Amino acid sequence: MNLLKSTKQFPKTHLVAVCTCAATVALALVFIPSQDVAAERGDKRQTIVLAAPSETQKTVSETTTKPTNQIDTAKAEATQPAIPVIALADTSPEPQLSAPTPVVEENWLRIKVRSGDNLTTLFKKAGLGANEMYPLINGIKPEKPFKRLMPGHQLEFLIVDGELSKLRLEKSKLESLVISKNESGYQIEKVERVPDVQHVYKQGNIEQSLFLAGQSAGLSQTKIMELAGIFGWDVDFALDIRKGDSFRLIYEELLLDGEVIKDGNIIAAEFTNQGKTFRAIRYTDSKGDSNYFTPKGESMRKAFLRTPVDFARISSRFNPNRRHPIFKTKRPHRGVDYASPTGTPIKSAGDGKVIFAGRKGGYGKVVIVQHGQKYTTLYAHMSRIKPGMKRGKRVKQGNTIGYVGSTGYATGPHLHYEFRVNGVHRNPLTVPLPHAKPLPKKEHKNFMPLAQEMVAQLETLAQTQIAAK
Ligand SMILES: [Zn+2]
Repeated sequence: MNLLKSTKQFPKTHLVAVCTCAATVALALVFIPSQDVAAERGDKRQTIVLAAPSETQKTVSETTTKPTNQIDTAKAEATQPAIPVIALADTSPEPQLSAPTPVVEENWLRIKVRSGDNLTTLFKKAGLGANEMYPLINGIKPEKPFKRLMPGHQLEFLIVDGELSKLRLEKSKLESLVISKNESGYQIEKVERVPDVQHVYKQGNIEQSLFLAGQSAGLSQTKIMELAGIFGWDVDFALDIRKGDSFRLIYEELLLDGEVIKDGNIIAAEFTNQGKTFRAIRYTDSKGDSNYFTPKGESMRKAFLRTPVDFARISSRFNPNRRHPIFKTKRPHRGVDYASPTGTPIKSAGDGKVIFAGRKGGYGKVVIVQHGQKYTTLYAHMSRIKPGMKRGKRVKQGNTIGYVGSTGYATGPHLHYEFRVNGVHRNPLTVPLPHAKPLPKKEHKNFMPLAQEMVAQLETLAQTQIAAK
C-alpha cells in the first residue's frame, strides 16, 4: 500500500498558494497573511513583500476568504490604522495546493485514547465491530499505525450509512494519519500540518528590571531570557540596566486553526541601554543555521566571553602598579581575580588552541589558550586541569578547560584570568571584544534587505503604538 506524504491542508493553508503566485511580482501590493513557514525552514526562496494600505488589505482579504491580522500590536486596538507589514513569502513556482476541501466536522465521531485502550475497544466505543476493523488492518499492511496508540491521541471515525468510511488518528496537533476506504481497498495518508506563523510586536520600558518590564509587556519568561541572551554580549543585565532603558521586539507565534499553539523565534529586536541602541536580526543562512546579526551583518556574539567563570566577586582587578599581597613589593597585577569556590568549572573564553597546560611557578596549574594570531588567554591557580587539555588541543568557546583552585601563589580559591592582545596584557574587564565571525559576504544579498525591512518595521510599529496612545 502506498504511504502518501501529503501536504494537504485545511483551508487557511491555501493562502500559501495565493502568496506564491503574488510574490513572483516583486512589489505586488498584497496583504499576505503570516504564512512565512519558509522562514522557519530556512528556505532561501524568500521575497519580501510590502503590504498594501488598508483598502487593498481588505480587498485581498475578502478574496482569500480569511482576513488574518498579521500583527497583533500588543496593546493597540484592532481598529487602529493599517500597519505596513512584511511577510516572507515562498516564491516556489508551483502551487502544490488544490482547492480547499472543507472537512465537515459534524459527521466525525471523536474518541480520545485512554490508558488501557486498544483498537478493539476503540472500535467498540465507536459502535463498530471486528468485521469493520480487520479488513482495515489487513488493507493497510504492512503499515501498523495503531501499534503505538498513546493516551491523549485522538481517533476519529467517519461513519457513512453505518459503514466506516474514514478513520483519522491524530497523533499531535501537527501530525495525523487518515485511512480512507475506496473501490480498491484502503489508503493511508499522512497529514502533516504546517502551523501558521504570525508576527507579534511587543515593547517595554524598564523601570526596575528587564524581567518586570518584560512581564508587563506580556512576554513569557522564556522570551525574556531569549531577549537577554541576544543582547547579553553587549549588555550586562545584572549591572548595566538603568531606569529608562527600553526594548522592542518582533517574534513569531505559531497558530493552528487560529489558535496560538506556541511562541516561535524572536526575529528582530532592539535594546536601548543607557542611551545606546543595539539591534539584532535573526537570519537563517544557506546552510540552514540561524543566528542573530546586527543590521550590518556583524555577529551579535563576541569572539570572547567577558568572564570565563561563574564568580562570587572580583577579588583583585587589573592594576599595572599594584603591590603584591604576598611579596609586599611593587608587582603589577596583569589580570583579574574572580573569587569562586574550588572546583567551579573554568571555560575557554573563545575558540582556540591550547598552547600550554601544566604547572608554571606562581600561576600553579595553568592553561594558556591561543586564539588566532592576535589573542591569548591565561587561566591560573586551577585545582585541576580538565583531562585531555594539553598543548595543541582545540577548544571551543565555553568548553570547560579546568576547575577553580588555589595552586601556585594564591591566598584563596580564585581564577586569575589574563587577556593579551599581540602579547600585551589588557584589562579583561574593559578590553573591547571582537565580534564573532560576521555573516559571510555571499549571504549579504539575502540578509541586507531583510535587515533593512526588519529595522523599518520595528520603527513603524513603535510609532504606531505611540500614535495609538
Ligand atoms: Zn591574580
